[in-house]
Amino acid sequence: MAELTGGIRQVTLPLPTRPGHVHAYLLPGDDGWIVVDTGVGLPDAKDRWREELDAAGGRVAAIFITHFHPDHIGAAADVHELTGAPVYQGTLDYAQCEMVWGNPAWSERLLEWFQLHGAPPDVTGELVGQSSIYRPFIRYQRDPVLMREGERLDGWELVAAPGHADGQLCLLKDGVLIAADHVLGRITPTVGLWPASRPDPLADFLAALDRTIELDPRVALPGHGDVIESPAVRARELQEHHRVRLEETVATLEDDRPQTGYELSLALFGRDLKPASRRFAVAETLSHLERLVNAGAARRHEDGGSVTYTPA
Ligand SMILES: [Zn+2]
Repeated sequence: MAELTGGIRQVTLPLPTRPGHVHAYLLPGDDGWIVVDTGVGLPDAKDRWREELDAAGGRVAAIFITHFHPDHIGAAADVHELTGAPVYQGTLDYAQCEMVWGNPAWSERLLEWFQLHGAPPDVTGELVGQSSIYRPFIRYQRDPVLMREGERLDGWELVAAPGHADGQLCLLKDGVLIAADHVLGRITPTVGLWPASRPDPLADFLAALDRTIELDPRVALPGHGDVIESPAVRARELQEHHRVRLEETVATLEDDRPQTGYELSLALFGRDLKPASRRFAVAETLSHLERLVNAGAARRHEDGGSVTYTPA
């Protein structure tokens, strides 16, 4: 555990897949710690948290979940059982959490969705199988206290940060942004289109980065990697990254040959990805394609049980 600015503690937890770790945070509050995110619900998660909380000392007043991805929400119920503290989570984020992790039919839905976007039958099984890997390690807390952007938790303002996850919420106080996976240092947060996600997640993300630049926090404490000393500068870099990616995406479209998101992901991300990475490559390609469609630079065609794209 590392002590950071303003008495905030950073708890780094193991992640079995890349990038190999995730950061949770302990924020000092009037009534005790606010635990932000919990790591994956690995078999020893509770023991691990017991040690971390013993080392920090004092009581836990609240558990806040930034978004429902396994590395952030996985051990929420463990930390709740350990501390008795209420779990807080965004309204939209909890709805998506239930839709994905509380729904045994989700894998089937994902399978159909990858087929619709052109993944060949021998590949879809692998893609969906990968998404189920974390399922046994997700112990989210049912019926959390639901919160919305603009509300406060012990003096911390909730800031909407859609893009990486539609309902992701960051926390802001005294120029410190608890950034979750909204801005990361060396890693580019994935922004994908998923079944039942908002229609243009990349537009949401670019606008959320505008807001970060406007808020201009002094420092951002991310879910992965190093502390970000110039969050507004990093937000601009991420916008530039996606501007370039959008250009590359539009350049890959062909007038006379409508292509699926899967096909285009092979051109944009290469052919040699493992299924786990291909899943994100397809979702990321689609978020760029939908941005281009909404900007009038590409056209979407839906026929014959598949979705394809051409230049506008
Ligand atoms: Zn994460």
